[in-house]
Amino acid sequence: MIKRAVFPGSFDPITRGHENIIRRALPLFDEIIVAVGLNIEKKGYFAVEDRLSWIKNVFADCSKIKVESYSGLTVDYCREVKASFILRGLRTSADFEFERTVGQVNKKLYPAIETMFLLTMPEFTSINSSIVRDVYKNGGDVSLFIPDAVKLPKI
Ligand code: ADP
Repeated sequence: MIKRAVFPGSFDPITRGHENIIRRALPLFDEIIVAVGLNIEKKGYFAVEDRLSWIKNVFADCSKIKVESYSGLTVDYCREVKASFILRGLRTSADFEFERTVGQVNKKLYPAIETMFLLTMPEFTSINSSIVRDVYKNGGDVSLFIPDAVKLPKI
């Protein structure tokens, strides 16, 4: 059976922090699906189609990486795509507290799933999508925070 992981998130937009976690996880899995979760209650800032195509551009060089969107429970999506692992990144203790709850609930819902965490590299600790959106909306330079392959539209 192939070792398939799902890296779920909003990726609104993908950042250098996300990219770093995904690239470092490549040797651990046969396939990683970067899965953009669609939340009916929380409409994202950037269009889902844009978020997906930016992620595809970033990983155009990696045949092991698939990019999809999903709605509903992450564990149901994992069952559907036959993934045994959920990949997440940890930046801070706040991330850990949040991820522990989600990971434990996911394990209850789908006992065969294992959540794997990679620690962020120190230089990416302060990067998150909401800061990137804030800088972007206010006309700042976001190029330091997003992968080179991502070209956000001019505002
Ligand atoms: P969510 O909406 O689930 O928080 P995100 O797109 O913000 O989705 O993040 C998806 C995953 O990427 C999470 O595991 C998050 O901890 C991780 N992540 C986000 N930013 C970074 C970063 N700078 N360094 C490492 N991991 C990160």
